[in-house]
Amino acid sequence: MSFAQFKLDSRLNTGIKAEGYVMPTPVQSASIPVILRGDDMIGTAQTGTGKTAAFVLPILHRLLSGPRHQSRALILTPTRELAEQIHQAVNSLSRGTGLRSATIYGGVPPAAQIKALRSGVEILVACPGRLLDHLDQRHADLSHIEFLVLDEADRMLDMGFMPSVRKILQRVPERRQTLLFSATFPEEIETLARQSMRRPERIALGLSAPVKTVSHALYPVEQHLKLPLLLALLQQTEAGSVLVFTRTRHRAQRVARQIGQHGYRVTSLHSDRTQSQRQAALQGFRRGDFQIMVATDIAARGLDVESISHVINFDMPDTADAYIHRIGRTGRAERSGDAYTMTTSEDNEMVRTLEKIMGKPLPRQTLQNFDYQQAAPPKRPDEQRPQTRSSMPRRSTASQRPAPQRSGVRSNHPRPAEQAQRSRAPRAQARSISQQQAEPEASTSVIARWGRTLRSRRRTL
Ligand code: AMP
Repeated sequence: MSFAQFKLDSRLNTGIKAEGYVMPTPVQSASIPVILRGDDMIGTAQTGTGKTAAFVLPILHRLLSGPRHQSRALILTPTRELAEQIHQAVNSLSRGTGLRSATIYGGVPPAAQIKALRSGVEILVACPGRLLDHLDQRHADLSHIEFLVLDEADRMLDMGFMPSVRKILQRVPERRQTLLFSATFPEEIETLARQSMRRPERIALGLSAPVKTVSHALYPVEQHLKLPLLLALLQQTEAGSVLVFTRTRHRAQRVARQIGQHGYRVTSLHSDRTQSQRQAALQGFRRGDFQIMVATDIAARGLDVESISHVINFDMPDTADAYIHRIGRTGRAERSGDAYTMTTSEDNEMVRTLEKIMGKPLPRQTLQNFDYQQAAPPKRPDEQRPQTRSSMPRRSTASQRPAPQRSGVRSNHPRPAEQAQRSRAPRAQARSISQQQAEPEASTSVIARWGRTLRSRRRTL
């Protein structure tokens, strides 16, 4: 199996080679022929499976014949980070074709976007809100759109974008090809698909690679001991890059600050940060300038950051699919990753759900030499769930700070510097092979069901 089987325009070979893709991933083998045929498609493939190239390559192929200087493909995504990532993939895969792509999202000045829209870039990668602003102000013209991609549709629903998506749908031609990707299919998404797609073909590839290569552990702990436990885990674990998830942006900010006070290189990613802060955080984390990133679920979807050796759920996520997405940030490519989840008695129901999905009990761990009997500190009025500095082990000087890379659990993840030295091609090849070997372990329908049940617990990320 190679990319030659798809008979893609030869101008796309440059991009495919440059990306180091040798064999199509399973999701690419399944989707590319459907999209090339011009059929609408619903995909349940997760990010990390080669999903982006699965829709970008056939769209580019089809854009290569037809007019230029008109916006002909629109990719809607829930987050700015995902928009940037897709835009970069488009740029890379379309090199040598002359096709152009632009991102449209809020949090940045609109001038450059207006310029790109007026010049008729062929591919728009947009978050719904800002695109709608441009449409209202007549900066954007979607009357030539032939390809519409709704990426992470359930996430757009969760984030409250459905009314904007629906308005955008009214502004694109009825005669178009629509591709919808979603991890779960709550009623609203099914309705959207029924109303906006023509006899879509369904491609389901389950939740494979991340689950297979990640080892999971639960750390039962009292709420007030989460921070000391996190610090102890960091100290005792030899980790590459560590992604810590909290339930709210306030907690992300606070936990990042508190870890930082212990000498770690840490940043945070959540929607209270400006776009430039978010970009700087992500870039710094990717480069290895920050070893730890504390994030809300905004970072759980779609982000392709290599070298994450550990995902630590400081708070249990709201839904099973959010858990799968979070832990999917590690264990990427051929490497293994560890997912630690701190659980309190409130999380028992979700633990049972996850165990049902995994088809096995999740191991409960206790950390040796950690004092689980520490008393709860007095409640602070500004905190729903208290974690005060007095509950943390005291470390007054930098010389006393934890040395997470020297002792404890070994990680097979390269340091970011080592990472940069690795050639792209072998890595990419190995990734595609590891995904083909992986078997779906989690049933998306079970996840969908639980996603639906628990979706009501929405929070601002
Ligand atoms: P995605 O699911 O689109 O986020 O892709 C995850 C990662 O897989 C990205 O780093 C892609 O560059 C990489 N990738 C996509 N297709 C292939 C392929 N055929 N072979 C190797 N790597 C790939």
